[in-house]
Amino acid sequence: MTRADAIDLALVGVGKIARDQHLPAIAADAGFRLAATASRSGGVEGVENHAELDALLAARPDVAAVSLCQPPQARYEAARAALLARRHVMLEKPPGQTVAEVQALADLAAAQGVTLFATWHSRHAAGVAPARDWLASRPARRVRITWQEDVREWHPGQTWIWQAGGLGVFDPGINALSILTAILPGPVRLTAADLHVPTNCETPIACDLVFAGAEGLSVEARFDFRWEGPPRWDIEVETDAGLLRLAKGGAALELDGAPQRLEDPGEYPDLYRRFGELIAAGASDVDLAPLVLVADAFLLGRRLPAEPFHE
Ligand code: NAP
Repeated sequence: MTRADAIDLALVGVGKIARDQHLPAIAADAGFRLAATASRSGGVEGVENHAELDALLAARPDVAAVSLCQPPQARYEAARAALLARRHVMLEKPPGQTVAEVQALADLAAAQGVTLFATWHSRHAAGVAPARDWLASRPARRVRITWQEDVREWHPGQTWIWQAGGLGVFDPGINALSILTAILPGPVRLTAADLHVPTNCETPIACDLVFAGAEGLSVEARFDFRWEGPPRWDIEVETDAGLLRLAKGGAALELDGAPQRLEDPGEYPDLYRRFGELIAAGASDVDLAPLVLVADAFLLGRRLPAEPFHE
């Protein structure tokens, strides 16, 4: 049941993630009311739609919040327009194409006195907060990340993923890095990367990454879009006091082989709960750490040619 004081919200880019996750989460959140969409393809049946965000912002000054669900290449201009119009803004991951874009948005939100929430949905998976708490008192020694999925099954028709700014296999891989940077008590830095780039694409289809952290911590990650079969979204952390294993993208947690019972409000319901909380508090939440690690992989990584990709 929507509250009388619910915030009128507009959704921008009504594609896969908007339909799969945002629309149900908004419908279930009493603190938000879906007031309009900005969609080039018609939006949501029964909801006011504008083909362009600028037209929506001009027509609907009552829309106080905007949630951006387009590919990252379109994110900055849309976020900037919404912030200049003094609307609260929620960004899908990755929050932008470049680090500087997101820093500029954070500065603009502060200057405009509105909320900017750069979301990392995987950090809201049920196992992530308990994993962080468990690791707080058990120094991690070695981390192994395996993030493998069939791009044809999970990203059908998404040509933007293969274009500069679309991140290629880092589009899902950045989810793993968002979890890594949330569960470890200290930072890690990239020390080596191999990026396998199909000869007909601008972004990698697979990569191998090595990171280092404090006190000899080593992290190895393999992201692969060429995987066929059930996806593997796993993170294993060896500590002096046992083994932690997050599976299913952070939704399942094992400690020393024992599956843990977890409370699970759902990633996207929890994102909108947090967005409401930030707006009420007059605060923003913009953590660049996962995007910085990806940027560093593109800075330091060796580009190796891979077989052409044809969907
Ligand atoms: P998508 O379905 O390919 O595209 C989303 C929508 O954005 C499109 O339907 C279109 O909406 C709009 N759009 C597409 N290209 C555009 C462009 N060049 N300029 C402006 N608008 C454009 O993508 P998606 O899978 O929903 O992913 C969108 C974002 O969500 C990505 O950053 C992705 O990393 C993130 N995400 C995706 C998933 C997932 O499972 N797919 C999960 C979590 C996060 P209109 O026709 O309505 O304009």
